[in-house]
Amino acid sequence: MRKYVIMGVQGSGKGTQSELMRRDLDLTHIGVGDILRWHVQQHTKIGALVRRTMAAGELVGDDLVESIVRERLQQHDWNYGFLIDGFPRNVRQAEFFLESYDIDGVIHLDLPDEDVQKRVLSRRLCASCGMDYNLISDRPEVDGNCDVCGGDLVPRDDDTPEALAARLRDYYEKTEPVLELFRRKECVLTVDARPEPGAVQDAIRSGLDLPPYRR
Ligand code: AMP
Repeated sequence: MRKYVIMGVQGSGKGTQSELMRRDLDLTHIGVGDILRWHVQQHTKIGALVRRTMAAGELVGDDLVESIVRERLQQHDWNYGFLIDGFPRNVRQAEFFLESYDIDGVIHLDLPDEDVQKRVLSRRLCASCGMDYNLISDRPEVDGNCDVCGGDLVPRDDDTPEALAARLRDYYEKTEPVLELFRRKECVLTVDARPEPGAVQDAIRSGLDLPPYRR
């Protein structure tokens, strides 16, 4: 069983790379931001608690996020392993995580700031099924509509220049120290996130000694 954490600044391609790994490696992808967005869309109690914080690009409280991760991992639908994305985001979350789970590797997608803004502001999400698009690199076949379900493509609430600035600040202040902690304890593989997705996936697989990515 393999257990990985995938980290990187907003727009570095964590969701895309997780999907390419999940497909043939039988890994369960656990996207903490996706779970929180689901709660917001479904108007659950948790959704009401986190909606404003998320739209402002700020981090949701540790207790809540930790309980979501604990419950998600207790579902045990990850017999062949998991790939967790969006967690841990600060040192407290990392310590909580390492108390309960040993991990095989941390994938760190490295993207310079000048590319972050360009990528994030062109990101779109299907309002119905949650599929990700990018108006520069991954356009839908029909402008404004999802290729899978035809739903409307909308920007994420937190993909505004203001929220992006808040998220980048948090990333450098709170998430970078997590990488330092992991570097001391675990294997951290840093990969250049600028090339096209397949090339990034090739670099991840060769760095982690995984079977090659088949296009
Ligand atoms: P993401 O999809 O990973 O960019 O996450 C979207 C938003 O969800 C973040 O800007 C935070 O508001 C919230 N979030 C996701 N993961 C965490 C976490 N580990 N800790 C706190 N807030 C989180």
